[in-house]
Amino acid sequence: MNIAFLTLTPVIGLAGTALYTLYAGFALWMPLLMVGMYLAVGISICAGYHRFFSHKSYEASAPVQLFYAFFGAMAAQNSILWWSSSHRVHHKYVDKDWDPYNIQRGFWWAHILWIFYRNPDTPGSFENAPDLLKNPIVMWQHKWHKVILIVGGFGLPTLIGAAFGDPIAGLLWGGFLRIAVIHHTTFFVNSLAHTLGKPLYNAEVSARDNWLVALLTLGEGYHSFHHRFPADYRNGIRWYHWDPAKWWIKTLRFLRLAADLRFTAPPQVEQARLRAELRLVEPRIAVADGPIADDVRARINKSLAHLETAINLWRQHMEERAAGVSDSWRKTRKRSQLYVRQSRRHWKNAMRMLEQVPETA
Ligand SMILES: [Zn+2]
Ligand SMILES: [Zn+2]
Repeated sequence: MNIAFLTLTPVIGLAGTALYTLYAGFALWMPLLMVGMYLAVGISICAGYHRFFSHKSYEASAPVQLFYAFFGAMAAQNSILWWSSSHRVHHKYVDKDWDPYNIQRGFWWAHILWIFYRNPDTPGSFENAPDLLKNPIVMWQHKWHKVILIVGGFGLPTLIGAAFGDPIAGLLWGGFLRIAVIHHTTFFVNSLAHTLGKPLYNAEVSARDNWLVALLTLGEGYHSFHHRFPADYRNGIRWYHWDPAKWWIKTLRFLRLAADLRFTAPPQVEQARLRAELRLVEPRIAVADGPIADDVRARINKSLAHLETAINLWRQHMEERAAGVSDSWRKTRKRSQLYVRQSRRHWKNAMRMLEQVPETA
């Protein structure tokens, strides 16, 4: 079933849509329908299936959860329960045998081939998702997701097409083509985001940060950060990082439909970044024997020590803020930021010194 579905949808979606449109004519509503449905379904996968149901990175109100359940089912990526349970296994065993989309088995395995095989390690008891088993919306969707897919994923665009006078064009653009696009953009997170880019936050696993992949996946391309801090509601942490799912979640909070957005303390993010970088430059420091190496190491240690202080101050700032300790939390935050800046200065100096060392001994 999976092989047939995943082979036929792109053939009908690409070739079928192209041929039919050549034959029956093109209208602007067709790509608009496709993009509109792509956004509604795509955001339900990224901000819903992934960041809310799998990682609990924020609290979502019941109407939002129903939206995710309904439009998420239209992505033809199974139920929330199945998707999130597999995804939690991916995070726990990333790059190891039990990772369902283990990139070590090759690009195409991680992209799509894994879906073609029955996984003997998945008993279907969903024991890693007790929270989801207790969620009535999740359980309702688990029972009905195939019906929603047919009625909503194919029926709805056909109806919209009929309203414009061409139900088949609606089915092709909003149904088949849209599903093929959503499939492969989601699959890119498991294949491309574990292949292309830099391991900025954790050099020990295959996850990578890449803005191009973020563009293709509604913001899921900052994958090194995501694997290091999966409970963070953001994937792209800078304001200019392309992360529509993050902006969507912030908008929901503004509308009071979401709350408790979890995010990592900035000095902690900095610490992860420096540690990952340290692993990359370690061979060069090892080569640079003598007084230079000692100096570089001393500066790196100072930099990391300042970060440790910054993290403790940040923790204190959060406590003060929660307790409503007048203005003192602002001062504590400023002090934390000061230590981050000092850490950065030591780090930059260390890297500058390291540049004087020849690449190979
Ligand atoms: Zn991953
Ligand atoms: Zn994840």
